[in-house]
Amino acid sequence: QKGKPKFLHINSPSKPPLKPLNSIKIPVNLQTSQTPLSKALETLTKIKPFLQTNYQPILLGWLCSSASVFSLSQIIPRVGSFSSNLINTVSISKLREQCLLLGILVLVKLVASYWQQAFLWEASLRTVYKMRVFVFQKVLERELDFFEGCNGVSSGDIAYRITAEASDIADTVFALLNTIVPNTLQLFAMAMQMLVINPSLSLITAMVIPFMAFVIANLGERLRKISKISHLSIATLASYLNEVLPAILFVKANNGELTEHARFERLAYTDFSRHLAKKKMKALIPQIIQIIYFGVLCMLCVGSLVVSRGSFDGCSMVSFVTSLVFLVEPIQGVGKAYNELKQGEPAIERLLDLTKMKSKVIEKPDAIDLSHVKGEVKFCDVSFKYADDMPLVLDGLNFTVRAGETVALVGPSGGGKTTLVKLLLRLYEPSSGSILIDNNNIQNIRLESLRRHVGLVSQDTMLFSGTVAENIGYRDRMTNIDEEKVELAARIANADEFIRTLPEGYRSQIGPRGSLLSGGQKQRLAIARAVYQNSSILVLDEATSALDGKSELLVREAVERLMENHTVLVIAHRLETILTADRIFLLENGKLEELTRSTFVARHRDSLLSAGAVI
Ligand code: ADP
Ligand code: MG
Repeated sequence: QKGKPKFLHINSPSKPPLKPLNSIKIPVNLQTSQTPLSKALETLTKIKPFLQTNYQPILLGWLCSSASVFSLSQIIPRVGSFSSNLINTVSISKLREQCLLLGILVLVKLVASYWQQAFLWEASLRTVYKMRVFVFQKVLERELDFFEGCNGVSSGDIAYRITAEASDIADTVFALLNTIVPNTLQLFAMAMQMLVINPSLSLITAMVIPFMAFVIANLGERLRKISKISHLSIATLASYLNEVLPAILFVKANNGELTEHARFERLAYTDFSRHLAKKKMKALIPQIIQIIYFGVLCMLCVGSLVVSRGSFDGCSMVSFVTSLVFLVEPIQGVGKAYNELKQGEPAIERLLDLTKMKSKVIEKPDAIDLSHVKGEVKFCDVSFKYADDMPLVLDGLNFTVRAGETVALVGPSGGGKTTLVKLLLRLYEPSSGSILIDNNNIQNIRLESLRRHVGLVSQDTMLFSGTVAENIGYRDRMTNIDEEKVELAARIANADEFIRTLPEGYRSQIGPRGSLLSGGQKQRLAIARAVYQNSSILVLDEATSALDGKSELLVREAVERLMENHTVLVIAHRLETILTADRIFLLENGKLEELTRSTFVARHRDSLLSAGAVI
């Protein structure tokens, strides 16, 4: 047993052998009522807008392919006559001349083929690049429910669709472009040659084609289904990794390595078996297409019979068979393109599915920009549930936060506080009722304007890899970050001190998701970012939970000082924070109740006293 890898026992005979997981949720319908061809056409229409922007390389590629086919059609009869000249021993100089011409033609064909592929690849990759950028823009615009709802798509799945799966689309597009003109041209050129040389033999050959088409179409449809399933299994793998790796601290702290290893192995095994099925199908299809080579063989036999009877000279025979060989190439190409399309269809569908907006949050065309906001927030009879079949999270809320006021929102966790904030930012639409800012219904305000005036420090501090300054100045990240403002914001958020102890101060990298910082440091950075944004309405959603008492006090004082004329909605558990607010709202069981200070103190007297608060 020496040297046996640590985790190998998972495969030991006592354990049941791994089986592919059939429980993987397949959210898409694999069965379609469409015929393979109409489905293919639909896919083509989907990618057409992205292809259309690449006319130039496509046309150049097709031009090169015409040159290549033209030189091929010149080469073939010359090969025939060259070979018969060899037998008939013509003069050396004539042979040399023919040899030179053939050489030049072959060279032209090779160069033209190279540029044909280079241009068509450029067009295909550009198409994918355009699709990716378009899809990501749409993903960013999508409703929040798409990411976090009960049917939400995991970030790993989205990442997989936009990265690896989209790369596969390039192969599909290339195969298509390579077929539409180059293969068709070559097919016709070769067929013409054969017809000219020997019509009856050509017709016999042509009889194989419908049979091939039937086989290819059927296998293609199966390949599409297998491809779709294999895409899903790898997307599951990606989602899994995306979830577990960021939580590696938790996994290790809970001895979760074995469990995670086993989970991963099952998912990987599922992916393996599905990919194997796909690869087998992909290997089978060309073999079946190769059957046409047997056709070539038969032609050779028939041809030589005819030659021996003297009705068909050797030179034509060589040309005919060479044409046939080059006819098989485009037929294979068409088959390959069809299969690539069938294989790529799920990828194209899954990628473009990401752009299907189902949002109820729609910006009205006549929505207004708020230039100056005093900061009054009013909820009128607001009710909300996440989905029709789910219970009400907020049930007829009515309250007003006056401009410049600081209001504490308290309540049990799961009470709907964060949901209320999401409604205020119009990340979700209330099921009924309306929300007003300075007496403007937020449905009539441009989303960009609304979200500029409402600053949020959320429960989960969301920081990005990059420097401290880039994170604080997030709003101006793509333009010009005002360094003085960054430092001022950091001082106000009481973050300046720790930032200066970092190796490169404001230019220090904070790691992916801010992993190089402590919880409290991350929160102070997030607060500094909100201060930098300088919104009239500031929402702190449990933003001070990871701060120690001293820093929290400083932050609170600072925020209050800065926000003297600003509205602050602070969701907090800390009693001291709650007590500094002008008013206190309790959100419980979907209902909102205003608590007077004395009621609140009376309810929490014991915990307040033990926390050392001055009542
Ligand atoms: P709080 O912030 O007060 O702790 P939340 O507003 O986050 O509570 O959640 C309120 C309720 O809504 C909880 O019962 C939670 O399970 C549910 N909930 C939160 N987000 C979603 C979501 N995206 N889809 C469905 N239900 C959700
Ligand atoms: Mg919350």
